[in-house]
Order: sequence, then C-alpha cells, then structure tokens
Amino acid sequence: MPVNTRDPYDPTNIFARILRGEIPCREIYQDAHALAFHDINPQAPVHALVIPRGAYVSLADFTVHASDAEIAGLWRAVGITADLLALTDPGYRILSNIGGHGHQEVPHLHVHLFGGRQLGAMLP
Ligand code: IMP
Repeated sequence: MPVNTRDPYDPTNIFARILRGEIPCREIYQDAHALAFHDINPQAPVHALVIPRGAYVSLADFTVHASDAEIAGLWRAVGITADLLALTDPGYRILSNIGGHGHQEVPHLHVHLFGGRQLGAMLP
C-alpha cells in the first residue's frame, strides 16, 4: 500500500527495523548519517538503497525537516555507495519515490541506486 505523504512516521516500518538491527540486510556502507544496503528484490544487476538514520517518511519530509548535516550526510553516502559499487563510471540512476502518486511503499526515506547495465530512457 503506497504511503500517504501526510502520514506520521511509523517506527515499525521495515527500514526502521533494519536500522535498529532487528532485521538483517546486505550492508554496503554505513556512517553516522546513513545506511546503504542491497534491495531485496533487485530491478537491475545492481540495486542499492541508501537511507538516513533519522526518522523521515520521505524525501519531501527530509528536505523540509532534516538538518543541513543530515542532508549533506545522506547525499555523501549516496556518492560513496555508488563508488563502492563501481557505479560512478559508467553511470547509474537514482530515484526516490514519494507518497501515493510516487508509489512509495516503505515509509522511511530511501534513495534507490540502479546500475550494472545500460538503463533505458526514464519513463514515468
Ligand atoms: P519503494 O516502492 O520506493 O518504497 O521501494 C521499496 C523498496 O524496498 C523495494 O524496492 C523493495 O524491494 C525494498 N525492500 C523491501 N523490504 C526490504 C528489505 O527487507 N530489505 C531490502 N530491501 C527491501
């Protein structure tokens, strides 16, 4: 069921549980601000997710309410994760679904990284 952007943060969501160590993940990178791991249902040869440690429902919530350090930390982690996965050259795609029309399913902000093959044109 897609997320409603006005929903309050649900601390029982699956990524919150991964952050608390209650559920395992295939970790790629972590630091004080973010955690990166492989998507459980990959849509490309490389499909990673990068999430902030803070309790933010979506990128819409994060960009309004997170601190500058949290925002910088998340995007730095995205870049580091792409480098660790050797995506940076020849390139990759990032995507973050927001709310119902964006078909976001997990109500904790996550940035998808897709790569490992030539991707198609970006279509809605
Ligand atoms: P969304 O549609 O942007 O919310 O994407 C949620 C993503 O989380 C999907 O690509 C799922 O495959 C992925 N996912 C759901 N549960 C897990 C998990 O436990 N580990 C890793 N990825 C997950």
